[in-house]
Amino acid sequence: MKVTRISVYQVDLPLAHPYWLSGGRLKFEVLDATFVKLETDTDFVGWGEGTPWGHTYVAAHGPGIRAGIKTMAPFILGLDPRRFLDVERAMDLALPGHLYAKAPIDMACWDIAGHAAGLPIADLMGGGSRTARPIASSVGAKTVEETRAVIARYRERGYIAHSVKIGGDVTRDIARIRDVEAFRRDGEIILYDVNRGWSRAQALQAMSATADLHVMFEQPCETLHDIAAVSGKHSAAISIDETLVTLQDATRIARDGIAEVFGIKLNRVGGLTKAARIRDVALAHGIDMFVMATGGSVLADTEALHLAATIPDDHCQAVWACQDMITTEIAGGRGPRNVDGHLHLPETAGLGVHPYEDALGDPIAVYA
Ligand code: MG
Repeated sequence: MKVTRISVYQVDLPLAHPYWLSGGRLKFEVLDATFVKLETDTDFVGWGEGTPWGHTYVAAHGPGIRAGIKTMAPFILGLDPRRFLDVERAMDLALPGHLYAKAPIDMACWDIAGHAAGLPIADLMGGGSRTARPIASSVGAKTVEETRAVIARYRERGYIAHSVKIGGDVTRDIARIRDVEAFRRDGEIILYDVNRGWSRAQALQAMSATADLHVMFEQPCETLHDIAAVSGKHSAAISIDETLVTLQDATRIARDGIAEVFGIKLNRVGGLTKAARIRDVALAHGIDMFVMATGGSVLADTEALHLAATIPDDHCQAVWACQDMITTEIAGGRGPRNVDGHLHLPETAGLGVHPYEDALGDPIAVYA
């Protein structure tokens, strides 16, 4: 089997509500999505998606995905998409770094390999758990009262996992944490996501002031150096997502004990092939995981769900459904959707969902 054609589509995915990152630092209203269709010299076709969480969040650029694919396409055409290690090496040779540009190609290769094997991707990866994965909500930076109201609305839809965005004013952050913990229910998974918003001193202040609550924080500071520098000085569990990009990041975090949880974002780390190695580092070192898209449609959510299904149930905290935050539907309602706050692994071969091409418009580039 050979890749014979790569078609690239760009779609704007408007957010239902403008999104402010922790502390109100960054705001965006539309996600710039790239969809990729890989065709082969057989009937098998694969789809991939790359949708950064805005351009201003971390180093990932929607137009950069399209530019990266243009550079890599001549090296991908002619390869067997089921041999995703060959495709990975070809992309890494053609364009070092730029992992987020490679993720949609990798995703489409896994989709084709799943179709060819007649297996859902998670089973092709070695076996997927059928335990539904809780979806983590995304509770934007709000007052104490607004935070309660947003969590209550998510609870009505069955959500048991919540990512509460903090990282603005430390005093206000401490008040919000104390309030959320006061009405937290048994069994709820709550992550306080700082989105790099604290200095080292602010992190120590907030984590010390809430030490009695034994809560979990995500990405408290800007860099791994910063998080490592304070890690021996507090007792909180730490999740790292934004500065978990490469396998080297994962091994450093594990070796140096910088965090207890990984937040694996598929697009950020370069797709399933690379993410599976990060998963294995986590499992080897007793590190639990959240697995998520960086953003995007049901395709991106489904890719994350497949990886999450390959993690033992006890070590997979939650996934995310970015699809619930966007107003454009590109797959006609198919694919895994929120059912009582959980996503269920699709049983169909490959990814288990693909876009309606009418919803994507004409490709903006075709390489053949
Ligand atoms: Mg996060």
